Amino acid sequence: MRAAVYHGPHDVRVEEVPTPRPGEGEVLLRVVRSGMCGTDATDWKAGPKTFPVNRRHPVTGHQGPMIIGHEFIGEVIEQGEGATTPVGTVVASGAGVSCGRCDRCLQGRTNLCRRYYTLGLNTAGGMAEFVAVPESTVAVVPDGLPPDAAGLAQPLAVGLHAARRAGARDGDRVVLIGAGAIGTFVLAGLRSLADVDLTVVDFAGPRLERAERLGATRCVDAGPEAAAKVMAAVGAPGADVVIEASGAPGQLTVAIGLTRPGGTILQVGLPAQPQEIDVWSMVMQEKTLQTTLAHVCGEDLAPALDLLATTSLVEELLDGVHPLEAIGEQLDRLASGQVEGKILIDPTVT
Ligand SMILES: [Zn+2]
Ligand SMILES: [Zn+2]
Repeated sequence: MRAAVYHGPHDVRVEEVPTPRPGEGEVLLRVVRSGMCGTDATDWKAGPKTFPVNRRHPVTGHQGPMIIGHEFIGEVIEQGEGATTPVGTVVASGAGVSCGRCDRCLQGRTNLCRRYYTLGLNTAGGMAEFVAVPESTVAVVPDGLPPDAAGLAQPLAVGLHAARRAGARDGDRVVLIGAGAIGTFVLAGLRSLADVDLTVVDFAGPRLERAERLGATRCVDAGPEAAAKVMAAVGAPGADVVIEASGAPGQLTVAIGLTRPGGTILQVGLPAQPQEIDVWSMVMQEKTLQTTLAHVCGEDLAPALDLLATTSLVEELLDGVHPLEAIGEQLDRLASGQVEGKILIDPTVT
């Protein structure tokens, strides 16, 4: 089969590799769409940071060049031993694999499983014609949901999980900093969970226009006066929940400043450098700093598919669909910040 194999920075090759066989509890998928993620772009630009090319992954044991792709959907074409999903079923992969037996899995926090690993990040993934996946990590794509929409299920599940971690309730005043792809998935998740007053902050332009169309109550242009404008909109002493989804340096401090006493800050973005925060003011106002990681497959993936069926997210977020052979140029575009939405690869075409 053809697969996109990461060897090192600026070196992802489409190679002919053996087609995997489904192991126990696994199904073999013919991949229909495979999404590209910021993590892929980061390792393309200056990796490997995540991909276990030089160091053996402690759980999967993988070491060396690796097939990327952790946001994919596909059609079941073969069942491994014990697998029951019928051949012909189209499923979305959650990519994160958990053991189901450890204390964290039993608490429902499968994304923190002691044996956690992710297909396409820690072992062979779905940027290929075929991929073998544990059946426990898939959700059936609803009838009639187009592949381009279903192809956004995994990153939307991540956004949905983040929105759940924010804990916003009906009537809360929520501020979202950053309306790129991740911020937009969080926005969609928030909108589906609670009826909140939502202020979105980013640079004026297409991102904010998209946020407005997807249900932001108001948008505020990032810039020197942004904090004052947000405060005027949500009213003193600040928002109930502030979600920092930009990862830009200094924005966590901004988020803390916009949060009311007793409120919650959710950090979604990943700043490249350690960030300094004013612990004193946080403690004096008993603010909660919350974080979020990946998603909980059993809780977030199926609702993400339902949400894609009932919203215009795919129209708003899809950047384009390309053949596997275009992987390098598309990673280049993503890594150089030229992409406002999501890039999908269709490995069924050449
Ligand atoms: Zn991702
Ligand atoms: Zn576990």
